[in-house]
Amino acid sequence: MENKTAKQLEKELLYTAKPAVDEESGVFAKAERFCEGYKAFLDAGKTEREAAAFSVKMLEEAGYKPFEAGRRYQAGEKVYYNNRGKCVLAATVGRAPLEAGIHMNMAHIDSPRLDLKQLPLYEEGGLALFKTHYYGGLRKYQWTAVPLALHGVLYKAGGERVDFCVGEKESDPVFCVTDLLPHLSADQNNRTLKGGIKGEELNIVVGSLPIEDEDAKQRVKLFTMRLLNEQYGLVEKDFIRAEIEAVPAYKAKDVGFDRSLIGAYGQDDLVEAYPALVAEIEVQNPWFTTLCVLTDKEEIGSDGVTGLQSDYVFHFIQQLCQGQNADYVLTLIASKCLSSDVTNAFDPTFPDVSDKRNSAYAGKGVCLTKYTGGGGKSSTNDASAELVAYFADLLDEAGVAWQTGELGKVDQGGGGTVAKFVARRNVDTIDLGVPVLSMHAPFELVAKVDVYMAYKAFAAFARAER
Ligand code: MN
Ligand code: MN
Repeated sequence: MENKTAKQLEKELLYTAKPAVDEESGVFAKAERFCEGYKAFLDAGKTEREAAAFSVKMLEEAGYKPFEAGRRYQAGEKVYYNNRGKCVLAATVGRAPLEAGIHMNMAHIDSPRLDLKQLPLYEEGGLALFKTHYYGGLRKYQWTAVPLALHGVLYKAGGERVDFCVGEKESDPVFCVTDLLPHLSADQNNRTLKGGIKGEELNIVVGSLPIEDEDAKQRVKLFTMRLLNEQYGLVEKDFIRAEIEAVPAYKAKDVGFDRSLIGAYGQDDLVEAYPALVAEIEVQNPWFTTLCVLTDKEEIGSDGVTGLQSDYVFHFIQQLCQGQNADYVLTLIASKCLSSDVTNAFDPTFPDVSDKRNSAYAGKGVCLTKYTGGGGKSSTNDASAELVAYFADLLDEAGVAWQTGELGKVDQGGGGTVAKFVARRNVDTIDLGVPVLSMHAPFELVAKVDVYMAYKAFAAFARAER
């Protein structure tokens, strides 16, 4: 050791994650190609229903067959299961018995947004508006003065389904939540940033023309309702049977002179869902059975029948075990799960919220996160050193650029994802994901190389033989 220069020692002994482009020559061009498919997925899957439908289409095109409970599958067979149109499971049966464990990869396909209330339409001040109820942890002030599209589904009396999507086509109108002009915001300026826009102020403008009859009450509301009736056969009561979501109306775009980033709505968590799905589709005849889960309801705590606190994934695994004559509990104990969700990227404009030595950075690869949670590691899965070591070796051997990080400074806040709901089932679980700038904003940023590294990591895990 004493003969080595400080420079050599620095190289051998110290560690700082490097830019992903330093790790592999030509990687940016590969990332750009991969991200063309990703951007198409972002544009096609702005709601959990749309992302699920698009994923099923990709799976069917790749030869996946609907899962049949109780059937015995041969190694290499590929199946999928669509949970209520809002979650998708896809699996490739491994050569090893199920008791050797399943390699699970779970991402979510719901994102923060504005849901319409049950009775949304009203008229005030010569405008027709929709009342909304926000979904997930969004910063309300960011959702004003942004063009919005309305996506969703409703069921008319008798059960006829009407799919609803306005604001995405170039020729479509869009919708918008208003904000105050600076000239009249003296009172609003004294609110906190958190309360700058209140939940009941997230009202979406949807029209302003009055119905021709001057004696009618609520002429603007009636005009809009008549349009909806003509175009979709709706009456006001039908809104009660609807799920309509307001999401940003723009498409995914390259960001930066160098086009190194992607800006889009919904990257939390389509930035893992898409690479996870592609890695699942591409794996052929793996040693371990692979299971890719694209789930719903993560942004509201994974509650609900389509969230990961529901048993739906584990019912699928139970049924798979029954068909393969495998022990369910032994299968879970031997399994490993990636909880694939985004983390925060260090933001040079707001450096104070992060410990820069333990933060993920955009462009330095996918982030392996031992624990999320808040305060004294509350509400986190806190993966074991053994599991971290397994994935660190796996990623290194596969040439994946990766880094580690935690979600901000210790007492700054925090957050969690689905890991703890899988760990609860006796499955070793760890978080892996892409660092995001402006997470949960209507326009989130990620680095293309990080998206590609997520894909490389997922592919390595799917084909791993230990
Ligand atoms: Mn997420
Ligand atoms: Mn989130």
